[in-house]
Amino acid sequence: MTHPFKSNSVAHRDVTFHLHSQTNPDAFEARGPQIISSGKGAWIKDSNGKEYIDAMAGLWCASLGFTNDRLAAAAARQYDKLGFYHTFFQRTGEGATALAEKLVELTGMEGGKAYFATSGSEANETMVKLAWVYHTVRGKPTKRKIIARNRAFHGSTIAAASMCGLEFMHREFGLPLPGFLHTEAPYPYRGMLEGEDEAAYVDRLGSELERMILREGPDTIAGFIAEPIFAGGGIIVPPAGYFARIQEVLDKYDVLCLDDEIVCGFGRTGNWFGKETVNLKPDMMALAKGLSSSYFPISAVVMKPEIYDAVRSFNKNGGSFGHGFTNSGHPVGVAVALEAIAIYEESNIVDHVRRMGRLLRDRFEAIAETSPIVGEVRGSGLMLGIELVADKATRQPFAPARLVGATFDRIAYSNGLVARCMGDTLGFSPPLIIDEADVDEIANRCEVSLRALEKDLS
Ligand code: PLP
Repeated sequence: MTHPFKSNSVAHRDVTFHLHSQTNPDAFEARGPQIISSGKGAWIKDSNGKEYIDAMAGLWCASLGFTNDRLAAAAARQYDKLGFYHTFFQRTGEGATALAEKLVELTGMEGGKAYFATSGSEANETMVKLAWVYHTVRGKPTKRKIIARNRAFHGSTIAAASMCGLEFMHREFGLPLPGFLHTEAPYPYRGMLEGEDEAAYVDRLGSELERMILREGPDTIAGFIAEPIFAGGGIIVPPAGYFARIQEVLDKYDVLCLDDEIVCGFGRTGNWFGKETVNLKPDMMALAKGLSSSYFPISAVVMKPEIYDAVRSFNKNGGSFGHGFTNSGHPVGVAVALEAIAIYEESNIVDHVRRMGRLLRDRFEAIAETSPIVGEVRGSGLMLGIELVADKATRQPFAPARLVGATFDRIAYSNGLVARCMGDTLGFSPPLIIDEADVDEIANRCEVSLRALEKDLS
């Protein structure tokens, strides 16, 4: 392979040997990797010594910033004591027990149980399998289909990718698998019809879901999966009453509600869990990312007692729950997660997120007022989005081929700001520990980059 990088450099070796996630191969081979060498607080440093404020916490995940002495010490202590054990065959480490107890308590899933996995995708797939067991045990084995929503992101394994409502997750692989359906996303800025108010919009979305269930046959539908607030789908907060209306339909047709809290959990939206922010009442919740501030790959499913009862009942003749990952309940991941949660509690992270989120949002709204291309600022807590439009009055979007959002990302990166465009919506999901000075840095760098983009477009 020939490319322009110095022989034996990290760039040369990376381009030669490494296939990257969510990366265009041609652009990568032409430009090489951006090598991130270190981090502190919300800041990262690349291999040239340039500093960036990472307003995406990596991938919506490094909630406690990019280094943390307490998390490092918790991991080191556990490595000294027991570097691995598993949770198969009735075994457990002490930490997994403590974390399961803590998660059941924090999520308010009274009488329920927690199950551990290592990634968000695995947690979501575990919820699907549990939904199948639940219906089977109740004499409804044909209830197998899962309804997700357009714009959703639920992960990269085969069923999780099938639940994504984003074309780029499907096109190479012939997905979604049969049995994974998508209903319309709530998207008030673009989805409401002329003259329709929020209540009518919500009702229409509920009716559409109901029509889909009736079309497919209620006896074929196992579950409905949703992020409380869309993350990768464009930081979209559902309109008031949306989940109450959806839940009416789910209850009517005996469909389980699966809550993907992988981004929204652990304070991100200004409550412990996104379900509180949007009034969602799930049967199961998938947790990852903020659970350990992503310092260790660990995820969890927390379920209502009825779901566990189904697993128990299915295996009452001596079988074992036929599911498990080598690293489920990994002692180091569990130790890191317990420490992360202790930090969130001691620092009252939820209040901090509300305050910092308000400040950042105020700054974005001020920028929006003077920018001809900001259509909407939206979000909750420290999960904020700015949608760029060609015409503010008519909400006319830019032609996709202009790659306006991607151009913003490139300009921002050159200005030392990591943001993340989703189409022409700019996403901000910084570490939860940002302070006022960090808010200023993010907002200032965003404003400078936006002005440069406006010039570029004019
Ligand atoms: N669910 C949501 C909402 C996500 O944003 C992600 C990842 O970004 C996932 C699931 C998948 O998590 P993982 O990449 O750990 O499998």
